[in-house]
Amino acid sequence: MSSNDHKRLVLPGPVEVRKEILDAQTEWMVGHRSAAFADLFARLQPKLQQAFMTQNRVYVTASSGTGLWEGAVRNCIRDEGRALHLVSGAFSERWAKVSKVNGKQIDVIEIEWGRAFTPEMVADALKQQAYDAVCLVHNETSTGVTNPVREIGEVVRAYDDTLFLVDTVSGFLGAELRVDDWGIDIALTSSQKAFALPPGIAFAAVSDRVLERAQQIDYRGYYFDFLELEKYLLKNNTPATPPIALMFAADKQLDDILAEGVEKRWARHTQMRDVTIDWATSRDFGLFAQDGYRSPTVTTVANTRGIDVNEMAAFMDARNFSMDKGYGKIKGETFRIAHMGDMQPATLEEVLGGLDEFLGV
Ligand SMILES: *Cc1c(COP(=O)(O)O)cnc(C)c1O
Repeated sequence: MSSNDHKRLVLPGPVEVRKEILDAQTEWMVGHRSAAFADLFARLQPKLQQAFMTQNRVYVTASSGTGLWEGAVRNCIRDEGRALHLVSGAFSERWAKVSKVNGKQIDVIEIEWGRAFTPEMVADALKQQAYDAVCLVHNETSTGVTNPVREIGEVVRAYDDTLFLVDTVSGFLGAELRVDDWGIDIALTSSQKAFALPPGIAFAAVSDRVLERAQQIDYRGYYFDFLELEKYLLKNNTPATPPIALMFAADKQLDDILAEGVEKRWARHTQMRDVTIDWATSRDFGLFAQDGYRSPTVTTVANTRGIDVNEMAAFMDARNFSMDKGYGKIKGETFRIAHMGDMQPATLEEVLGGLDEFLGV
């Protein structure tokens, strides 16, 4: 494909990946039981720990984020136990379904899409029922809402037996997240959103409390058995063949991210969020997400002008930008502008300029 055909992804995953990162995948392969691989695994750990802001280990899996949803609930919810799922969009809804189809008992607090959870909602639920785990999505990609993870974590922390599981798939490295300070037992993410890697590799920062819990569960599954992942991690290895090429890419990307600085990266995303919000409101669009909880990585625009999102996407496609048209039941009624990963403000300006041309303003 010539560079003229290259469509720049403005999607909330998979996102645009820089050429240097794509190229890092073309290193010569190494055997995963070799010293060279152990070296790669070992040098990723402290970088991942810095990125998650944790002292806990970070598992690396050959899967997308969905695999780790399953792993998290299978290793944390006991047969007699229950989990509380906080549902406010397509992804949190799907995670609850993952627990259910794995035979787990769950309760769901469901709020209107576009709203954020409050710590009070969680506090009320925990007063009424003991839970093995509370499952929260940090950044609901379908609605563009960032939930108050820190405040909810403070509530969950008061319960010794309740683990706090956080999906930060589209938040990680774009929206503030401090795993240890915020009392998060599992923070899981995939690669192809704000991490700006190709799809196919996933990461989970996992606390000692989770491993203690896993020991009380007989059937944790096989591929995402955390006790097995732990056994191998201690040898700088993985039970099954890891995604070696993607790990080379992650190694390079983490160097670049840590050179930018995690907090500076959050700030860059927040700045792009503010630019996008200003653009949308000044063009008479609405914003789907509740004020005060709008995501630094993706803005869900309420299509109050009633534009044809298919026409918009075709117009932008001709300018080599691949656009989103909304997700799930709010497709068309909304569309999303992603400003995550390695996107720079100048590129966002180009995207918004293209949309202005489409609107004829
Ligand atoms: C994309 C997404 C997922 C699913 O991740 P995959 O890597 O596609 O399996 C889960 N949660 C959120 C919040 C997402 O945005």
